[in-house]
Amino acid sequence: MTTHPDELAGLTGLFTDQERAIADSVRALTAREVEPYVADWFERGEIDDPRGLMRKLGTLGLLGMHLDGYGCAGTTATEYGVACLELEACDSGLRSMVSVQGSLAMYAIWKWASEEEKQRWLPGMAAGELIGCFGLTEPDHGSDPANMRTRARRDGADWIIDGRKMWITNGSLADVAVIWAQTDEGVRGFAVPTETAGFSANTIEHKMSLRASVTAELVLDGVRVPDSAAFPEVRGLRGPLSCLSEARYGIVWGAMGAARTALECAQRYAVEREQFGRPIGGFQLTQQKLADMTLEYTKGVLLAVHLGRLKDAGALRPEQVSIGKLNNVREAIDICRTARTILGANGISLEYPVIRHANNLESVLTYEGTVEMHTLILGQKLTGQSAFQ
Ligand code: FAD
Repeated sequence: MTTHPDELAGLTGLFTDQERAIADSVRALTAREVEPYVADWFERGEIDDPRGLMRKLGTLGLLGMHLDGYGCAGTTATEYGVACLELEACDSGLRSMVSVQGSLAMYAIWKWASEEEKQRWLPGMAAGELIGCFGLTEPDHGSDPANMRTRARRDGADWIIDGRKMWITNGSLADVAVIWAQTDEGVRGFAVPTETAGFSANTIEHKMSLRASVTAELVLDGVRVPDSAAFPEVRGLRGPLSCLSEARYGIVWGAMGAARTALECAQRYAVEREQFGRPIGGFQLTQQKLADMTLEYTKGVLLAVHLGRLKDAGALRPEQVSIGKLNNVREAIDICRTARTILGANGISLEYPVIRHANNLESVLTYEGTVEMHTLILGQKLTGQSAFQ
């Protein structure tokens, strides 16, 4: 008889009935709509009917789910976190699709756009009828967005935007792109309809990670938008960083979903696979791997719950999100790689979810602030010295 890692540490007891109900409904959706197909999507580097999938996610209330009003579900941050964990237990690409829609594109509009723009975009985005993306990274500026080259200049009552954005999730699916650009007043955000003349998106091919997720380069060539498309209040990097903090919070949870799937798979495999006449789970070295994976998974979930409760109390600080993102993604990728070794040669096959999760987490390790950036954020807090430049 085996014990599930959640049961071993009593993790399920940490959650309310409502949180458990959300986890169950997300798991039912992923089991029906994504899990049977996701290895094939990963292999082909293409999602079947991403718009249909986004609508299904919207129907379940998962898009912008922790935002209030405009058709959003208005859940707690912990409920949103639990949903991210279950989405990423299926695939990091699926969680990315939801994070970018809800925590980056919708959050940016919800927090910073004019009322008119909120009414225009948010209800359709919450329903999954409209898709959003978030353009901050550029070909030459990733970790240092302050030096971005994309520029918006006033032209009468309008703005003209020129530049390029790179590695943009949902980029070639999007109806609206949140674009951050330099202006004479500092960095400003714009909600740009992707049908605007001069806007184009080129899907990025040949990725070996997040293959079941659309990533694109955005080209803005003299894109003209009215002043109402500009976010009226916010100036400087405070705008995009506020959104990144939301999405990073979801990753704290999501990474533990990927870890859980790899751990469950390795545990099952260890008791079924026999070598030298006995299950490989009977060897002490395999048991040590499983025990260490379970420790890190348990600590990661506890940290996510702690940060979720802090966020619900309105007390979560950005550097605390860095603690969660840095630790949980780093440990999740380690758990996936260890699970891979337990599966032996089968570990490299898409017949099992482990290598897919490990490869996906390579992207998760880099986006939303690299390991190095989050380390420097914590280093700065600990020493009072900035080591960024
Ligand atoms: P760089 O900034 O060039 O960094 C390269 C390396 O140098 C890293 O290890 C970095 O940590 C290190 N480094 C840089 N500066 C320092 C320093 N001061 N000290 C120490 N080390 C340093 N971006 C978006 O805007 N929207 C999206 O939707 C989006 N989706 C993505 C999806 C995928 C699949 C991927 C892979 C990326 C996505 N990104 C997105 C981009 C992502 O946020 C960037 O890749 C990330 O910020 C890192 O930037 P970079 O790749 O340019 O690396």
